[in-house]
Amino acid sequence: MSLERRISSLEDTELEVMEQLESAQRSLAEVTAETDEMAARAGELQSALDQAVSDLDAQARVALGERELLVSDLPEPLVTLYERMRSQADGVGAAALRRRRCEGCRLELTASDMADTAAAAPDEVLRCPECNRILVRMSDIGV
Ligand SMILES: [Zn+2]
Repeated sequence: MSLERRISSLEDTELEVMEQLESAQRSLAEVTAETDEMAARAGELQSALDQAVSDLDAQARVALGERELLVSDLPEPLVTLYERMRSQADGVGAAALRRRRCEGCRLELTASDMADTAAAAPDEVLRCPECNRILVRMSDIGV
């Protein structure tokens, strides 16, 4: 009797272990499927990133080519001033002047500065009295 009970107990244990194994195998299959999905998604995202970087590189090359053409038509002292300001002012050497405001430093010009701006010749190089950037007069400067 004792041997039969022992055999029965071992069979119960074996059954429990087999159920645990099946459960673990199901979990492994689920995790493997999730991992495969994540790997596929990562591959898609990497492809999209590579394409975006490639597109931006192409746009940068075009922009640099256009910049070189534009710079070649500008007077050398203006280009020198622009490059100097650009290195001193967070990479922005010139800023738009719109509605009395320098869009480089976001400050509004005083009435006196605006009067000077209005009186300046169209080809005179203006500077922001606050940040010193070259001011590019837009159609709506606010005078
Ligand atoms: Zn400014």
